[in-house]
Amino acid sequence: MNIWRLNVRTSQITECIHSKKFALDSKPRNPEIQKGDILLLQLVASDADKFDKRDSRIEFALYFDHYEDDYDGTISKYYWPNAGKTWHWILHCNRITSPFSFSLEKLNLANNYSGQTNPVRIKPEDVNKVMFYLIGFPSAEENLGYKIHKVLNDPAIDNKEYTLLAAIKNNDRIVESNPDQINWTTVPAHKEIKRNAELPWLLKEFYSFKCQVCGYDFKPTYNIPYSETHHILWLSRGGMDHSNNLIVVCPNHHRIIHEAKPKFDREKLAFVYSNGLNEHFKDGRHLEDPVLLQKVEQWAVEREEQIKKEKN
Ligand SMILES: [Zn+2]
Ligand SMILES: [Zn+2]
Repeated sequence: MNIWRLNVRTSQITECIHSKKFALDSKPRNPEIQKGDILLLQLVASDADKFDKRDSRIEFALYFDHYEDDYDGTISKYYWPNAGKTWHWILHCNRITSPFSFSLEKLNLANNYSGQTNPVRIKPEDVNKVMFYLIGFPSAEENLGYKIHKVLNDPAIDNKEYTLLAAIKNNDRIVESNPDQINWTTVPAHKEIKRNAELPWLLKEFYSFKCQVCGYDFKPTYNIPYSETHHILWLSRGGMDHSNNLIVVCPNHHRIIHEAKPKFDREKLAFVYSNGLNEHFKDGRHLEDPVLLQKVEQWAVEREEQIKKEKN
């Protein structure tokens, strides 16, 4: 995968965002642009000066799909009628994203990418510094939330709030350029363990929809009872639809339990978090038999084995 920088004028960028297209006079050779390559839309220097974007010349990146030969200029004229010229090659892209905005000349790169030539390939020794700003590209070891956090806390970012707001607004601009576009994702069919539909409701009612951990109750404020249920041992890991494996929680607790993955202390009826916090249940009435809880845990070990066997 290669990264290319493309100079673009303010007057052309809106159409680039809207149609996910870019036009070139000649195809680059050795290498050619390949499907999946990243095209950085860089505001031409004069426009960057004019619009106070010297430090944020790059706000959008396109993902290249294929070329089209615009031999008589029809496509160019259609998409960029006021450009006063036509181009030989149209680059069709299949995706557009907004990185954290940046300017190549501020990154202390090994090479100089200024000048009018289009496109210019980012050399391998500079790729990592550029990738840092492309937030849609978490590496294998890090997730998206972690990557964004890391970039925002880098000394190179001098105004976190401004950077965030700019990225949010650029993302909005992409969405607004094609409001009727719906992005579908295809989930491959997979074997899923069937859940007991009744048990959660029975437990919710048992606790009058209050969170077992903190006691929060939506009812007095919103006049709607609401709570969720959580499997202490996940179904996929052998946990069962058994009342001693199911707890009633508020959405806040449900989320933080999934994120922080605390250990469940059966004896104390508490969640033990990695920072040392012990969160004792406000109400654990249906979990008062530690022997039964122990059994549920033992069954889970056997079930997990079974699940692995049956899945393949
Ligand atoms: Zn709660
Ligand atoms: Zn859950």
